[in-house]
Amino acid sequence: DDAGVPGRVRVAVRLRPRNAEELVADADFADCVELQPELKRLKLRKNNWDSDTYEFDEVLTEFASQKRVYEVVAKPVVESVLDGYNGTVMAYGQTGTGKTYTLGRLGEEDTAARGIMVRAMEDILAEISPETDSVSVSYLQLYMETIQDLLDPTNDNISIMEDPKTGDVSLPGATLVEIRDQRSFVELLRLGEAHRFAANTKLNTESSRSHAILMVHVKKSVKGRDSALLSENCNSSHMVKTFKPPVVRKGKLVVVDLAGSERIDKSGSEGHTLEEAKSINLSLSALGKCINALAENSAHVPVRDSKLTRLLRDSFGGTARTSLVVTIGPSPRHRGETSSTIMFGQRAM
Ligand code: ADP
Ligand code: MG
Repeated sequence: DDAGVPGRVRVAVRLRPRNAEELVADADFADCVELQPELKRLKLRKNNWDSDTYEFDEVLTEFASQKRVYEVVAKPVVESVLDGYNGTVMAYGQTGTGKTYTLGRLGEEDTAARGIMVRAMEDILAEISPETDSVSVSYLQLYMETIQDLLDPTNDNISIMEDPKTGDVSLPGATLVEIRDQRSFVELLRLGEAHRFAANTKLNTESSRSHAILMVHVKKSVKGRDSALLSENCNSSHMVKTFKPPVVRKGKLVVVDLAGSERIDKSGSEGHTLEEAKSINLSLSALGKCINALAENSAHVPVRDSKLTRLLRDSFGGTARTSLVVTIGPSPRHRGETSSTIMFGQRAM
């Protein structure tokens, strides 16, 4: 298993169950896909007798629990963030296929329903000692190449800073909130969601037309034997051993609920929407290019083409772990969109 291998993108596909409307409207038709989770395969139906077969790192059926999805998609990334690396978890797919369900569900009444963001924070908080370590988060929306602060609605044009030496990315203008317990984190997500809704109402758009980005910064000091070992390994100089500086591991987890991947029909939409469509296509295709470059082990990852990829540049490739879940629906009426989502996932591998 290469769950922990940096550089390569791990790709899972998740199928949403039929919804009430599909149960009726598609009653006489088979799903457009057939999943073989043990073989990590998915078959996309071409017609009644023929289908194309694709392999993924993980195939999650409509029966996969949120817990299992977290363990497969996000847990290895969270663990490496706790070890001091950066990591990204992204959901890509057509609107209505379960990106937000997978990443953002709060599951307050039903803990089994909790999504990746909440589960990741729970695992991080369990590994943190309040006296020496810290966890802080920013929550952002990226819409039409503009970054808005979901924790402070007045902060609607955040710029990206890149350290020319280290390549580290920071957002000096973004609100950073220290998290001490799970409850305040859930509160913060809810607040961010409310601000997102208000901002989008004002802009006359929908949340499916923008990317939601959660950034979790973890600072963890390494104690005892581990620390001594690390100082020794990091730097052979005796100085290090003599002074025994506290070793701090800094990791960053970025969780991205991507804009809906569907082609937006040019007909019947006002200029506004066409501009949105162009902007979404720009960032998703820039992301696709970067992911393909990682898959091909290419020396050049074209991060500069969009704000989304500039934002992620220190969180994928290099020593960072990247996990992508592509979400699909079962309806034969959306076979075309499902096919292009599957292809996006395939190109990342
Ligand atoms: P997206 O964010 O991709 O637009 P959502 O996460 O909002 O999609 O999901 C659309 C609808 O489908 C929601 O009502 C959600 O609760 C439901 N849904 C999505 N995935 C699942 C799943 N795996 N099991 C049950 N319901 C789901
Ligand atoms: Mg959504």
